[in-house]
Amino acid sequence: MSNTHHADVVVLGAGPGGYAAAFRAADLGKKVILIDKDEILGGVCLNRGCIPSKALLHLARVKSESSEVKSFGLTFQEPTWDLEKVKAWKNERVVGRLTKGIAALAKSRKVQVITGSGVFTSPTSIRVAQVDGFAEVTFEDAIIAVGSHPTKIPSFPEDPRIMDSTSALELDGIPDNLLIIGGGYIGLEMGTIYNALGSKVTVVEFMSNLLPGADADVVKPLEQRLKKDFSSIRTGTKVQSIVPHEDHLAVSIESSAGEEILKVDKVLVAVGRRPNTHGSGFETIGVDIDDRGFVKVNEKRQTNIPHIYAIGDITGDPMLAHKATHEGKVAAEVICGQPASFDVSIIPAVIFTDPEIAWAGLTETQAKAQGIEYDKGVFPWSASGRALALGRTEGFSKALFDKESGKLIGMSIVGTNAGDLIAEAVLAMEMGADAEDIALIIHPHPSLSESVGNAAEMVTGSITDLFAPQK
Ligand code: NAD
Repeated sequence: MSNTHHADVVVLGAGPGGYAAAFRAADLGKKVILIDKDEILGGVCLNRGCIPSKALLHLARVKSESSEVKSFGLTFQEPTWDLEKVKAWKNERVVGRLTKGIAALAKSRKVQVITGSGVFTSPTSIRVAQVDGFAEVTFEDAIIAVGSHPTKIPSFPEDPRIMDSTSALELDGIPDNLLIIGGGYIGLEMGTIYNALGSKVTVVEFMSNLLPGADADVVKPLEQRLKKDFSSIRTGTKVQSIVPHEDHLAVSIESSAGEEILKVDKVLVAVGRRPNTHGSGFETIGVDIDDRGFVKVNEKRQTNIPHIYAIGDITGDPMLAHKATHEGKVAAEVICGQPASFDVSIIPAVIFTDPEIAWAGLTETQAKAQGIEYDKGVFPWSASGRALALGRTEGFSKALFDKESGKLIGMSIVGTNAGDLIAEAVLAMEMGADAEDIALIIHPHPSLSESVGNAAEMVTGSITDLFAPQK
């Protein structure tokens, strides 16, 4: 069976970038077709990434809090897991509810959804392989939003006990011993989840620090906590090989201390993601791709073929859902004749561990590397009434202000709910705020958000919650 369709705009890939692009274009009056090989919309983020991991991280946090409050005088029984119930809650009541919501939003906007694998056959057509045949789709403009996949280490054997982020989120058996390769976003978030589920977690990170993109001082409070919770954290260490045995995996690791064999039940490989460059016909129609496999785009998210746009992970780092969503809207608006453009200077990054780590704008490491002179305000949460009341005083908020202009150029936060708190810094940077602007904002008391204002007050000298010698 073959069927043909025509749309003003075709979006290939229905993740947070793709569906945002499709919905925005439809809202601006275009006839839109959204193609995804998965019948359930939402892409990796909703189905196999951000959302299910956050659901499980929530349970991990409740578990650790329920034991921490014991020393404050509130004792719960030792928590027990009903794994089947947890999976049902994650899959149906969290992920399922959101993905059904996306499908309903598509329907209400009259966005036509076609399920199947789409391949460009010319610069104006896509062939979609479906279970019962093919659909031929022609278009005026197209938006590529096909995302990325977990990086594999080719020398490792094929073994179901060697997981990637997708299989790890399925919670198909909780290993007694889990080795995680990669101390980045996924490694530390999944390590937090499996530790709460009862696994002994070992993290092996190639670089000398966990989360190499964040400032080392910001990572420290998290690392200190993880060192207590995890079995071990090996930085500056690489995995040489994995040999499967019937009852374990033998993992050979190497560091400056020499070589060691670790016996574990499962391994999670979390060493980054690669763009889904191949298999969608980009090369056939001549879309420019860089040497790392990312589709090259301009600030309007146009490829070298001006009516074909690309957004999200396929266009390069940072591979973050909120960047993809923003890019999707930009591409849709450009197609609809609006003066939109993508400004990449401030994309917040959040690691949803416990404590969370978040930063936006420049890290201190980047500011130093770029030779930018800055004033720094650091507010330790040990002086925050709210953090004390939560029993979580290990965090701090660090603000960097450009010495010349006085404007906020970077903020890093480590602590409970840092991922929510960073939004204020993003707004402040977008609005060109300086330390005085932020210090003069009345923050609600007692709240963790005060720490953002306090960090600015450390620079203006108006801090009263701490003693800072007057300049
Ligand atoms: P990542 O880039 O965050 O971390 C990978 C880590 O693995 C790095 O620290 C790297 O040094 C290390 N590494 C690489 N090769 C190694 C090796 N052979 N041995 C040991 N360590 C090695 O990548 P990720 O954690 O796989 O996540 C992939 C992407 O998914 C990220 O880029 C991120 O953008 C996205 N993500 C975001 C969130 C979030 O926003 N909270 C959560 C999960 C994933």
